[in-house]
Amino acid sequence: MISERKPAHFLQILIREDLAEGRVTQVATRFPPEPNGYLHIGHAKSVCLNFGLAREFGGTCNLRFDDTNPAREEEEFVDAIKRDLSWLGFEWNGEARYSSDNFDQLYEWALYLIKEGKAYVCDLSAEEARQYRGTLKEPGKNSPYHDRSVEENLVLFERMRNGEMAEGQCSLRAKIDMAAPNINLRDPIIYRIKKMAHHQTGDKWCIYPSYDFAHGQCDAIEGISHSICTLEFEDHRPLYDWLIENLPVPSRPRQYEFARLHLNYTVVSKRKLKQLVDEGHVDGWDDPRMPTLSGLRRRGFTPTAIRNFCEMIGVTRSDSVVDVGMLEYSIRDDLDKNAPRAMCVLAPLKVTLKNYPERQQEMLAAPGHPVRDDLPARELPFTRTLYIEKEDFREEANKKYKRLVLGKKVRLRNAYVIFAEAVVKNDAGEIVEVICSVDLDSLGKDPADGVKPKGVIHWVSAEKNVDCEVRLYDRLFNDPAPDAGGKNFLDCVNPDNLQILKGCKAEVGLANAEPEQGYQFERNGYFCRDSKYGSVETPVFNRTIGLRDSWAKEQNK
Ligand code: ATP
Ligand code: MG
Repeated sequence: MISERKPAHFLQILIREDLAEGRVTQVATRFPPEPNGYLHIGHAKSVCLNFGLAREFGGTCNLRFDDTNPAREEEEFVDAIKRDLSWLGFEWNGEARYSSDNFDQLYEWALYLIKEGKAYVCDLSAEEARQYRGTLKEPGKNSPYHDRSVEENLVLFERMRNGEMAEGQCSLRAKIDMAAPNINLRDPIIYRIKKMAHHQTGDKWCIYPSYDFAHGQCDAIEGISHSICTLEFEDHRPLYDWLIENLPVPSRPRQYEFARLHLNYTVVSKRKLKQLVDEGHVDGWDDPRMPTLSGLRRRGFTPTAIRNFCEMIGVTRSDSVVDVGMLEYSIRDDLDKNAPRAMCVLAPLKVTLKNYPERQQEMLAAPGHPVRDDLPARELPFTRTLYIEKEDFREEANKKYKRLVLGKKVRLRNAYVIFAEAVVKNDAGEIVEVICSVDLDSLGKDPADGVKPKGVIHWVSAEKNVDCEVRLYDRLFNDPAPDAGGKNFLDCVNPDNLQILKGCKAEVGLANAEPEQGYQFERNGYFCRDSKYGSVETPVFNRTIGLRDSWAKEQNK
């Protein structure tokens, strides 16, 4: 439970100081997804951080699609990202922005650097450039094109822009320092030729800025105060600063890094998630087994649970792996507090109450939630034939088994006590029906004979119920680190990650269940109606999460 407030993390402390000392007057952050996949739980960490800081300090957070690479972006992803952000409960500042909105300005700034003698067109091939670059131990050496005149560079860059050069024939590089210990400063490429249309700018450009040239400059154009990214960009920060210092940008953003989220039993790389989708290991980006926000949403995760999870894991600068059990804990905690209760029998066994009149039906009242009085009460039709779980009946059992046993009593949840008198078996010797008697004087009180039933089991009327399909998900991967140490993550896919149960029987009220409304199916876990599969007559319910952490116990068996 997240009751006590967490101590401030390093970015909160830093922003407080920036504000107190007047370095920053208005906090402005941005969330910069590349629209080449759906948002996943790792992105949620960055979203909660960027939007959360803006909210906390009365600032703004922009949504900026980082679309400098024309090759891979698609409109579908833009729409999905916006949908997921809104669902998580965050509102971006103004319209969504695109790095490509600034291509004209970036081009002007490239010309500016050339005119300042701080950029040149280089004709080295990728392979040659690698040889000139040096290594971590050895300095690089200047490109033979390093000292081209401003005039020549202007002409060549113009020709690059006009499509007169082939892809890879030349590039524009910042002239910084080929001996710099940080390789990112060894004359990095800032513009490349790519003869490819772009989903925002169409055919206008055949040269595109590099990520490094675009990112900080877009931050400056948008007036971002704190440009927060993950640790792998730490080595790019000197280049970020160099560009900001050497260009006539309108504001002075600063880059800060934090550790990305790694979750065990999970992959959070868009490339790998895309592979799972493209190769049919799952049935789309929003498959309930996926760690994408749309998958988690369809599975029954709530925005609150995801935000609480991001709060719980905190923000640091050291890489670590978070136990997926924490994510599971946060959804269980939210649903325990807020999900209405319901009954659903997953593997039905018929019970006939021989002393209950045929065609009689009474409505029994059941609470919507054990402590939440604001959740509406339910009405359960009680009839002569009922269903209970197969595993809740045995002909013989030891004392630990607190369910229905032949010759013994059990209480039906929110209803009467019943007594098992006989079983009916099929030709294969399987129990297909239990004949019971019902104690009609036991509603809300102990039986008059003073013999208390040992347990309480759930049930559903066999005459009035909702026939449904239930999907039980297990972890998508059965290896704690599916993409570590040279493993092929596809080899770690858990073959039993989905179990589909048909002919399940749910209480009548669940006919009206809305997707994303979580329920606790008593004794079975937390479920929600699937938004994609199922019909009005036969809904499909997804198990969001079990009642208890049975996975850890399974592993230790
Ligand atoms: P991927 O490896 O999934 O392709 P990415 O960093 O290339 O991730 P982007 O779309 O560029 O994906 O990410 C948008 C923002 O989300 C970036 O600021 C990035 O740092 C952040 N982000 C991505 N993955 C994680 C993660 N696992 N933990 C925290 N932040 C992340
Ligand atoms: Mg990226």
